[in-house]
Amino acid sequence: MKNLADRTQGFGNSIFGVMSKMATEHNAINLAQGFPDFDGPEFLKEYALDSIKAGENQYAAYPGLRILREKVSQKYQREYSANFDIDNEITITNGATEGIYLTINALINPGDEVVMFEPVYDSYVNSIKMAGGIPKAVTLKGKGFNFDESECEEAFSSKTKLVILNTPHNPTGKIFSKEEMQFIIDLALKHDAYIMSDEVYEYLVFDGKKHISLCEFNEVRERSIIISSAGKTFGMTGWKIGWVLTTPEITNEIRKVHQYVTFSIATPFQVAVARALDHIDEYKKEFLNLYEQKRNRFVKGLKEIGFDFEAPSGTYFILVPIKSFTDKDDVEFAKELIKKYQVASIPPSAFYLKSDEGKNYLRLCFAKKDETIDAAIKNLQALKSL
Ligand code: PMP
Ligand code: GLN
Repeated sequence: MKNLADRTQGFGNSIFGVMSKMATEHNAINLAQGFPDFDGPEFLKEYALDSIKAGENQYAAYPGLRILREKVSQKYQREYSANFDIDNEITITNGATEGIYLTINALINPGDEVVMFEPVYDSYVNSIKMAGGIPKAVTLKGKGFNFDESECEEAFSSKTKLVILNTPHNPTGKIFSKEEMQFIIDLALKHDAYIMSDEVYEYLVFDGKKHISLCEFNEVRERSIIISSAGKTFGMTGWKIGWVLTTPEITNEIRKVHQYVTFSIATPFQVAVARALDHIDEYKKEFLNLYEQKRNRFVKGLKEIGFDFEAPSGTYFILVPIKSFTDKDDVEFAKELIKKYQVASIPPSAFYLKSDEGKNYLRLCFAKKDETIDAAIKNLQALKSL
């Protein structure tokens, strides 16, 4: 038999799938893969059911339903004073994951370099490799997960085609400041690079802090690609409704890839998200309060056990240092936690390309019912005696 394609040979199973499977096998509390263990709002389910019953069950237009693109455009206008043309600058995708894949494949040629900040969300790296690009990492370090400016400057070169931002950042919970974003933008301009910003956690920003979207920087409007998703905001990760906002030229290329990868996205879920975006302003306050309370509950419990970290400013993840409890690396310790204490986490070394930092941490997800958080904290109390 002839060989299978070289393109996919280096890929393993995603760490999210591996840990979720192990959690099920050991009947562990699953704080690994990032999804809520409770449902999103009732009104959203009603909207989807209404749409299905109304017979909106055939293919949607391939750029996405116009009504959803219109509501997305209004959202960005209201929240960030940014204008995106409904017909030529917005594409609805199968979650943010497809948007990331489309963007990278529309921009990257073999040998092009892509700068990103590690720990880095795994789908960026694999999409870059599929396109033949070369990932270049800058490491976020220390309690605040900051980057070193000279390391960042060194990551850029004349070959840099794209820089990827993710704010709020998975898995550290970091929110990139305006100054940090400006520093990265200046480097992108200097090296004539595009900038993709993954903002799927845009509403999960705690302590009165503010999310800054890349679309607020007009000087890079013609080289920016903004990606977000309804999955996190509406607590329905399985619906997979995402969007990509960018110039007509880049949109055109992105849609060419989209046409042949998924063609179009589930119609009734697009209708439901379009209707829900009409009351996002009231909903997002409730949503934030709910998650801020969960973060506080979990942070308090983890600190009482002896974990030493700064509470995350955004997302629903916490990256906790493990070295005060074990000499094992993250992967071994994550396995031990599942088997001995029935708590599943993500070993973050899978998110690092360059440094070994990931071995010192575990990622825990607090998008969980209060009783799930309390049960996990109870199980983890055993670490106190280590
Ligand atoms: N980007 C980041 C940073 C994520 O954490 C995730 C996971 N939700 C995604 C993209 C993928 O989003 P979606 O489920 O909408 O494809
Ligand atoms: N974004 C989710 C996380 O970080 C995982 C999504 C997936 O499994 N691909 O946990």
